[in-house]
Amino acid sequence: MKIFRDGVKEKLVPIANQLFEKQRKALGYTILYNYDEDICEFGKKPEPTKNVLEDFRDVYKELSPETHVYYEDLLESEFYDLETRQGKIVGAYSNHVALYHMPFIFETYNASSGALKTFAHETGHGFHSYCKRGEPLSFAGACSSDLAEIHSMGMEFLVWPYLKHVLPEEDIPAYKYLHMKHALSFIPYGCAADEFQEMIYDHPEMTPEERRKLWKKLEREYTPWRHFETDTFFGKGRMWQRQTHIYRWPFYYIDYVLAQVCALELHVMDEESHEKAWECYKNIIKLSGTKGFNDVVTSAGLPSPFEEGVIEELAKKVAYSIV
Ligand SMILES: [Zn+2]
Repeated sequence: MKIFRDGVKEKLVPIANQLFEKQRKALGYTILYNYDEDICEFGKKPEPTKNVLEDFRDVYKELSPETHVYYEDLLESEFYDLETRQGKIVGAYSNHVALYHMPFIFETYNASSGALKTFAHETGHGFHSYCKRGEPLSFAGACSSDLAEIHSMGMEFLVWPYLKHVLPEEDIPAYKYLHMKHALSFIPYGCAADEFQEMIYDHPEMTPEERRKLWKKLEREYTPWRHFETDTFFGKGRMWQRQTHIYRWPFYYIDYVLAQVCALELHVMDEESHEKAWECYKNIIKLSGTKGFNDVVTSAGLPSPFEEGVIEELAKKVAYSIV
């Protein structure tokens, strides 16, 4: 894990840092505070379709014959709940309903960029359950979360070439930029959470003050663009306290990071050859539940994130499109 995290620290952090530096300059600020990180420097927030269910038909029809069949089946059987209504919890998930052999997609869809990305994410999870519904052994239909999140985060990127069906043409560059910025800056943040956990579990004698100091040090190393100076809580090295995973599911958070790296690898492959990337994605789904993370991704044709040089190579490839 250290090789992976060091690769992120040395190769990916400078790129993420450049992104926020570019944003700071575009907005004309002296310091980009944490609450400004999400301001869209394109001037206008992307405005996705309000009718995402219907409009995604074209996305999945053009993406592949398999997603076309899956999505039409999902719509026909009405296995979804996207409506925003009073009393409905805000959140999203895809749950496999074994009795009907169908995934159920739940989201409180509010037509924001985040909601659109989440819809692609959850329908990506749903596609995995749909593909696996014929498995004779139920455990082969499930898999570890590092792999499961490739199904969803991978789908978030695989729909990129078809975004014209769900976004106004002029909003697409801003949407892609925001998506990529979030994906890239999440990886170092997730690594900081992982290193932090390793340290505090190795040293249970650390005092609260020492833990806060450690987090501040890791924040500077992994997220040097982040400024909390005006925040009396987060500014004191307490940001990790909002990450409930650290309290409830130690060492789990890195799964999202590994999946995000693989999703970006898949995206790079998709830009070179859609056929190749789609085959790779289908293989990841097929192999999930039969082998461990590393075996699945490498057998499907992606490089292992743990191998030396992989993060550097990925950083170079994604940098051109965004920095
Ligand atoms: Zn997910």
